[in-house]
Formats: sequence, C-alpha cells, structure tokens
Amino acid sequence: LFSWYQNELIPTKELKINFTDDITGQLRGFRIFTACVRFGSNKKIFKRKKHIKRLYKSAKLIKMKSPYSKTDLNKIIDSVIEKNKDYDGDIQFDIIFSGGKTSSDGFTPLGLSTLIILSVKPFDFPDKFFKEGMKLVTFAFQRPFANVKYTFYLPAIFAHLTIVKDQEADGIIFVDPNDNETILEGSSFNVFMINSNDQILTYPLNGKILKGITRSIVIKICEKFKDLEVLEQSFTKNELINSKEVFITSTTRDIMPVTNVDGFIINDGKPGKLTIELREALIEFRRNSNSN
Ligand code: PLP
Repeated sequence: LFSWYQNELIPTKELKINFTDDITGQLRGFRIFTACVRFGSNKKIFKRKKHIKRLYKSAKLIKMKSPYSKTDLNKIIDSVIEKNKDYDGDIQFDIIFSGGKTSSDGFTPLGLSTLIILSVKPFDFPDKFFKEGMKLVTFAFQRPFANVKYTFYLPAIFAHLTIVKDQEADGIIFVDPNDNETILEGSSFNVFMINSNDQILTYPLNGKILKGITRSIVIKICEKFKDLEVLEQSFTKNELINSKEVFITSTTRDIMPVTNVDGFIINDGKPGKLTIELREALIEFRRNSNSN
C-alpha cells in the first residue's frame, strides 16, 4: 500500500515523519484527521465528500491552517487511490492534517499544517464482536472539542489499559463526567439503543460528541428505508442497560452489536434482531452507493 507525505507517494512501510517539520502535530498533538475506507469491491471511498467536509470543518473549529484547498486535496487523494488501484482488499485512508512547524514560543503554528495520507488495511475486528456482540464498559469522560476529529485518544487508551483489561471487556463508552450517567459516545464510535417501543435513540449533536458519518447514515436508513423512529436525545447508563438492543456505529465497524454493558447483560444477551437487520441494510446501502 502507498501513502502520501510531503508531496510524495511512498510505500506505507517506508513512511517516516520529519519530526522537526511537525512539532505542533507530533509533540503537541495539534492534529486532526478523518478515517475513511475504500471498500475493495467498489474502488471508491465511501462517503468521501462527507469525510473531506468534516476534516475541513475540524480544521476551521480549531483555527488550523489547511495544507491544501479542497480541490487540490481531492487531486492528491485521487492520486493515492490510483496508486493503490491494484490492491484488492479494503483500504483505510487516514487523511491527517498535522500541525506543522512552531514559532519560538512552541505553541503557535507557523505556516500551514502538514498533509499525511496513511493507507492501511483496516483493523480486523474479531468475528466474535459481530456474532456474540461486544462487551463494553463505561468511563466518565467527555472529549474536549468533541465535534473535532483529532488524534488524541489518551483517555480511551488509558481506559483500555485499566478497566477494559480488568473487566475483560472489548471497549469503552464515555459517560458525561458531570452526572456520571449520561451516555455520550464510544472511544471511536457512536452509541445507539433501541427501547421497548422500537424507537432508536442516540445522543444529540449538541457539541459533546463527534458527528459520526456512520451515525448520520444509520439515522437516514432507519427513517427512510425502515420506517423506524429515531430520537436524537440523551439516555442514561441505566436506560441503556435496560434497553431492548444496543449497537455502535463507525466507519470501520459499520454497525456492531453490544450485548453487555458494565457487566449487565442486554436483553437476552444476543445481538438484537433490528441491529442485525440495520447492519445488513447499511452494508447493502454501501454496496449500492456510487456517490463520492
Ligand atoms: N466518535 C469518535 C470519538 C470517533 O473517533 C469516531 C470515529 O473514529 C466516531 C465517533 C465515529 O465516526 P464515523 O462514523 O465518522 O467513523
């Protein structure tokens, strides 16, 4: 696989970052990205436009100077796709704007941010997650600048090294630290629950979570194709534990069922019926989608 760095297409394995050209990104974590996927059968990045739009919105929200105009970035992405065209499997492209050089105070970016497009094989999530559902644990934290997609995952990784490990779980969900019960989002996914009336609930876009692209697609699928009511409203840990079904969404996971939260078994402990149906609908939607 080939990646992009400093005006060059370069084999991903040979990618080396010039640290001093990117102190604000590498040392200070002033770095945003979007992770999008070219699914093998399609050869196009699914929801490319939405990913690019979110990346530029993230840049704007933190006043980061983009390295290229949208038009020029799209040309570069085209060249990366073209260079990888013979690869048959799925490719994850992490399109990264990394802070770049700093002025002498160490905190003021100088000039434009640096573009890195990392091309990798997406994570291979265990089959068990799909077949048996995930076991998640809650962790009190709210991502600062939550509607910016950045590469700072320290709290989530700390949670994985502590409670996820201790409780032999598969991942974490952030709960609002102000009340210690409102479900926000996961480490790198959005969270949905289905109540006893078959209404689909997910946290609203009020600045405390990332606007997941898969989240938006799933809401659309529920409403337009499945005639299911979606309520973008908050719910508590208790409501989640007592719900009918729980699932999560992200670009690399599509929809994944959740069958255990904080040690409590959801419903009968099996992936929910509607969850499976929605997962299939989402994959079908993607297959039929030719839009960029
Ligand atoms: N929330 C966070 C914090 C994320 O990092 C991600 C993706 O990595 C998501 C939600 C899901 O977003 P998307 O569906 O656009 O992949």
